[in-house]
Amino acid sequence: FRFSRRPDIGDKVRVSFEFFPPKTDEMEAKLWETVTRLEPLKPKFVSVTYGAGGSTRERTARTVKRILTETGIPAAAHLTCVGATREEVDAVIQDYKSIGINRFVALRGDPASGVGEPYRPHPGGYENGAELVAGLKTIADFDISVAAYPEKHPQSPDFATDIEMLKRKVDNGATRAITQFFFDNDLYERYVERVRRAGIYIPIVPGIQPVHSFKQVANFSARAGAHVPGWLAERFEGLDRDPQTHALVASAVAAEQVMDLVERGVGDFHFYTMNRADLVFAICHMIGIRSHEAEAAGSAAA
Ligand code: FAD
Repeated sequence: FRFSRRPDIGDKVRVSFEFFPPKTDEMEAKLWETVTRLEPLKPKFVSVTYGAGGSTRERTARTVKRILTETGIPAAAHLTCVGATREEVDAVIQDYKSIGINRFVALRGDPASGVGEPYRPHPGGYENGAELVAGLKTIADFDISVAAYPEKHPQSPDFATDIEMLKRKVDNGATRAITQFFFDNDLYERYVERVRRAGIYIPIVPGIQPVHSFKQVANFSARAGAHVPGWLAERFEGLDRDPQTHALVASAVAAEQVMDLVERGVGDFHFYTMNRADLVFAICHMIGIRSHEAEAAGSAAA
């Protein structure tokens, strides 16, 4: 049975967490509760997303800075190059550098008009994610993560083109790739095989999306080019108005996915937290990643 306690696994697995920058004081307080709860799990790093077209520029920087200074967790800023000149993007990078941020998740981003629209680089801007990586490396020897797509990016005509783009990001200095979320581990495994055959050897860290709301995930999946398998829809069927059961099923589904990937030899996981701690905390607990506080409470109760 996959969910039995595997004390050895926690030592082999490393996790990172993704947050989005909060819009209001209330959301900030909630994010901070989440960060405080997840911090004892000792993530390898955390990252903070960048709103479409730089709309969260200040909030992203503030959030990354706060995490760095108040927790000491290595924190990465997401950065996109869509709709901006090179000078504008370089100025953002310099600002980050001046406040001690040296980790980035470098992305192309999507046009403000929508993900479905054809992408047109800004005439004076970085053309895509790979060029942005090169631009970052020109400024300093940053730690750079990039995006990868186990089901290929919706705008890539085929896998070969998609992987060629990833290769350019790696050749320009990317340290690791984080994948778009997926629910079928076979797709991820086949993708990694293709990537390795193309001579790419950086870690391809699976992005794990705990299903906080099946409805939302299903809607977003179509745009993100991630396939929602029929079995997943069946598991959440009828749970729209039953949040407790929904959460229990979601943690079981994600833990099962992660455990299966561990058995396939994967050691690093990136969680899309949606700024919520509970599901991620439960999943980490099940795969043997525990906070010292939780261990101490357990021995006190025994
Ligand atoms: P690229 O790898 O540059 O390109 C993706 C594909 O588009 C390529 O494979 C290629 O086929 C095609 N392409 C590239 N350049 C061109 C061109 N000039 N003309 C035509 N086609 C081209 N978005 C945000 O806005 N903020 C975030 O914080 C954010 N974080 C993310 C984190 C992760 C881990 C992932 C997986 C995605 C994230 N995204 C974010 C979404 C991302 O911006 C989109 O998926 C975007 O469509 C592609 O970005 P990329 O860096 O992968 O693009």
